[in-house]
Amino acid sequence: MNVIDDRLNVLRARWENYARSGSFDQFVEFTIIVNSLTEYFNRMRLPGLVRMCEGLENLALARLGTPESHPISDEDATLLQRQIDTLLGAAYNMRPVAPRRRNQQPAEGSRNAEWIKPRQVWLVAAPSRRGTASALGRQIDFFGFLTEEIVWGDPLPGGDAPLAVLFMPGQETTAAEHRKIAEVRARYPASQMVYLGAELVIDDIVALMRSGIDITIPAEEGANSVLNCIFDLVQNFRPEKFRVLVVEDSPVAGKLIQRTLAENGIDSRAINDPGWLLEELRAYRPDLILMDMHMPRFNGVEATRALRQISAYRALPIVYLSSESNIGIQVEALRLGGDQFLNKPFNPVLLAAVVKTKIARYRESQHLVLHDGLTGLLNHTAAKSALKAMVEKPDIASLTVVMIDIDHFKSINDTYGHPVGDQVIRTLAWLLKGRLRSSDLIGRYGGEEFLVALPDITPAQAYSVIGHIREDFSSLPHVCAAGNVFSTFSAGVASWPDFTTAQGLTEAADFALLEAKQRGRNQIRPAHARGAASPAAQPNLFSENISP
Ligand code: GH3
Ligand code: MG
Ligand code: MG
Ligand code: MG
Repeated sequence: MNVIDDRLNVLRARWENYARSGSFDQFVEFTIIVNSLTEYFNRMRLPGLVRMCEGLENLALARLGTPESHPISDEDATLLQRQIDTLLGAAYNMRPVAPRRRNQQPAEGSRNAEWIKPRQVWLVAAPSRRGTASALGRQIDFFGFLTEEIVWGDPLPGGDAPLAVLFMPGQETTAAEHRKIAEVRARYPASQMVYLGAELVIDDIVALMRSGIDITIPAEEGANSVLNCIFDLVQNFRPEKFRVLVVEDSPVAGKLIQRTLAENGIDSRAINDPGWLLEELRAYRPDLILMDMHMPRFNGVEATRALRQISAYRALPIVYLSSESNIGIQVEALRLGGDQFLNKPFNPVLLAAVVKTKIARYRESQHLVLHDGLTGLLNHTAAKSALKAMVEKPDIASLTVVMIDIDHFKSINDTYGHPVGDQVIRTLAWLLKGRLRSSDLIGRYGGEEFLVALPDITPAQAYSVIGHIREDFSSLPHVCAAGNVFSTFSAGVASWPDFTTAQGLTEAADFALLEAKQRGRNQIRPAHARGAASPAAQPNLFSENISP
């Protein structure tokens, strides 16, 4: 049995316990497991299941009440039971074993592969858009998905739930099309449903959402946005736990707050004296501060004002948690740099909701700062500091750095135009994302330059992985008005401990890249450790010499 089955069984058991006893405590246990399941699906990037879990969580919270309000009415119990059954059905239906496609890397450390995501993508297209659908399908297939084209109006294929369903309507979305969307939603509640249509007004978007669409994409954004959103679903992205710093002079109050946070899967630390703030912020890097108002030495508002003078903390969410009931003082506290004011004694449900939503927004805004808009990869600065962190990890065992540069890129721009150049850059970014592990670092280092770092595999393995990507990229057609355009890249590879600093590794990889360019491009060259013999005399370190 795997982890997910365990969790679903616990959910079922907790609900059955409550149904038998009708006790408030069992109901609380049940809501806690629903909450942890939401967190889990969120980490696994399963938005459909997250949505269903959140729905269940809300239903449960609305009926939490007090010990006296339990057991809940039969009607409410039936409603919850129905929602639980739907969730369990959808969750079981979402876990078939995916077939492995060509060149795809083995699932990341199979002992972690507790959930292998389906890779089926359905394209439901109006007859007039079948050509576009086929072209898009081929593009999606190339990245290791299995697409199935369905004409709008034809019956749906049976079998396992698809990862995503893509709707491509005709000129206008008809009532019949809305019914079709609702039908697919009802049958596959956990699949992600994307609508690729004409420019939309807000009424249309709301109507589509009501039918069950998760994401609407204007047709002109086309394949790029669709692929981005499908890739998002399969990235085994494991966000770090939320971190909260509690500034609270009363140790008892501090413990109580920390316990509530822990019950909601949030990590926290507490300090009793605001004088420690800067040290603690540097060491702990919290996503949010819960700030008491009244403390000795200086108060929460003064501490907040001081933090806002430091550029690194200007946007950090600060939520006051205080028994101060004077509205004037509360407003003043917000005006001087706080984000929200919560009252003590606090409501644990509200506290958790405020903390989580504030942190989610904050992380989203930080994402824009760290990532590149065209490709979604880490930008130059972020990639550099991520590499530094990888090299400085105390338990580093191996690390290979690859510098990639697209060949004769200027001539692609000059011949086919900038948008086609952009498409080539994006496609290489997707190929890297699709083929590398989530533990690998991928950054857009410059215009058409990428920095990749692969930990925990040998240099020879890294060389071979990049070699396969090089081959596939060179055979990948980029579709544009002029027909199919082909492109290649060159790469330089340097490994730790031949080079022991981030700067040493990137410079060496860059130098090797230059050599690959000089030798004719579309190839990968290893860097040579300083003091080593000349390249020709070096033993062949790499199992696969893929230079053409
Ligand atoms: P080489 O094989 O030696 O690498 O030749 P190259 O033409 O690829 O190299 P060069 O550095 O001369 O040209 C890179 C070009 O990339 C120049 C720049 O205009 C273009 N470029 C940089 N960023 C972007 C971008 O975001 N989009 C597009 N379309 N072009 C970009
Ligand atoms: Mg106090
Ligand atoms: Mg370049
Ligand atoms: Mg180039």
